[in-house]
Amino acid sequence: MAMTTSTSSSARRRRTRRPVLDVRDVSRVYRPTPDHEVRALDGVSLRVHRGDHVAIMGTSGSGKSTLMHLLGCLDAPSSGRYLLDGVDVAGVEENDLSDLRNRKIGFVFQAFNLIPRTSALANVELPLVYAGVSRTERRQRATAALRAVGMGSRLDHLPSELSGGQQQRVAVARAIVTDPPLILADEPTGNLDSRSTEDVLTIFDRLRDQGRTLVIITHEDDVAARARRVIRLGDGRIVADSAAAATPVATRHAAEREAAA
Ligand code: ADP
Ligand code: MG
Repeated sequence: MAMTTSTSSSARRRRTRRPVLDVRDVSRVYRPTPDHEVRALDGVSLRVHRGDHVAIMGTSGSGKSTLMHLLGCLDAPSSGRYLLDGVDVAGVEENDLSDLRNRKIGFVFQAFNLIPRTSALANVELPLVYAGVSRTERRQRATAALRAVGMGSRLDHLPSELSGGQQQRVAVARAIVTDPPLILADEPTGNLDSRSTEDVLTIFDRLRDQGRTLVIITHEDDVAARARRVIRLGDGRIVADSAAAATPVATRHAAEREAAA
């Protein structure tokens, strides 16, 4: 009885809570030349809720980067809708998009993308500069974020003075410093050795345990194995989604009963 109650209340929470990502029948068609069309994404629908940890996998050319660019508001769908934390991205003016990105998304890239000749601390402070946070508060929050990724003793180091794994930890600190609803990572361990990969994955595990939302694009099985949900792309479509398989029939039935009531 207790189980039924907890199942239906969690089902209720899931339905009423707004998803962080809500992708509705999105396609993206490239037209490299007027008579040539590439359907990089073809009718993708996807919802990700707060606290989810999702890996997106797929072979080269399956549409991962295209999806990442759409999720990151770096590109717009050819058709379909995309709501980021409840905001329909299509309705946002070009000028306001970078502000939306800065507030809603922490990016982690394969190539780290830190600003050279700039200290770890200043790199992590940068999103807060854009957000108009005061200097004192910036320093406090950036220091705390760097401590959270085990880089508290390297605040003044330049990227060139850090190993790849350490640079990526700084990049993760930069991604979390604004406390965004979504952390979006594209092949975050693609340039790392196995030890640094483990360090970064351990940090991601901790972020997930803190209830942060992580979407990680990867082709590495050991990275995907740490996610709660694995989505596979093939030819621009979702060909597998472990969340669909993982929802027990009893839970679905309870949710349906509740929905009907
Ligand atoms: P992945 O990241 O999974 O390797 P992409 O999203 O980069 O896949 O690419 C998906 C498909 O779209 C591929 O067929 C690719 O060649 C094509 N594509 C990607 N970007 C462009 C572009 N700017 N112009 C034309 N075709 C593109
Ligand atoms: Mg790619």
